[in-house]
Amino acid sequence: MKKNDQTIRFLIDNTPVRGQLISLDASWQKCIQQSKAGEFAKTLLGNALSAITLLASTLKIDGNITLQIRGQGAIHLLVAQATNKRAIRGVVRQSRELKNTNIPLKEIFESDQMVVTIDTGKGKPHQGIVPLIGSSLSEAFEAYFENSEQLPTRLWLACNENRASGLLLQKLPGDMTGEHEDKDSWNRLTHLASTITDKELLELDDNEILHRLFHEESIRLFEAEPVRFECNCSREKTSDMIKSMGQKEAEEILLEQGKINIHCEFCDTNYEFDSVDVKQLFESELSLPPTQTRH
Ligand SMILES: [Zn+2]
Repeated sequence: MKKNDQTIRFLIDNTPVRGQLISLDASWQKCIQQSKAGEFAKTLLGNALSAITLLASTLKIDGNITLQIRGQGAIHLLVAQATNKRAIRGVVRQSRELKNTNIPLKEIFESDQMVVTIDTGKGKPHQGIVPLIGSSLSEAFEAYFENSEQLPTRLWLACNENRASGLLLQKLPGDMTGEHEDKDSWNRLTHLASTITDKELLELDDNEILHRLFHEESIRLFEAEPVRFECNCSREKTSDMIKSMGQKEAEEILLEQGKINIHCEFCDTNYEFDSVDVKQLFESELSLPPTQTRH
């Protein structure tokens, strides 16, 4: 049975290679539940979610990591986020039909970069700009991994409407395997992994995938770690957004539309503020005690 919404690490004995598999289903379906984007756009989002979760897990960051691509193309926005607790959310927006999907990503998005932000909640988030190379997100992510970690990394990603799956192989630094390390293992293992089909990656369970690819190797599997969908939006955060836009602008929207509606595209929650709510928001702002500074 295919186990879902989990990621699992493995080591290949006598080689300096580590690997990780990921399979998202309920969490993935939740991400696209309300999406109006086309099939190809959704596939890109599924691939991005698998890759960003593998990245969060590899970098062992404290906080969250976000991939963002913004452009003027037929697909003009893609956001995929994973926390260190493997909670994921994401959104993709498409503005017009995509006639040909067999073109470089930078033409699809009309953007030549993706932004990877690591936010640990302490200090300023760290932003990395990655060129949007090739025609698949795995190529752009491989470049990011290699840049940030200086480790050769390969990624295989597959996605359909039910599931998003991925396989990562990474060559560890130095001579970690002692005298038995075989020098050609990286080439051999990546070559074997390249024979995986999308269908196999989506349908086979972890053991079947590993057996199918590496049945001549000795594999050490770690314990699987669960992945889930979670959106951290809240009425409180939405209130802060309205506060930061200022009382004047908030009142202008109220005058025009009767209420302020803020919709979270990640989880499809609607936050509604009427004139009483807005008045209270700015009153509570004023009634806060003045900040005291002590030396
Ligand atoms: Zn939300």
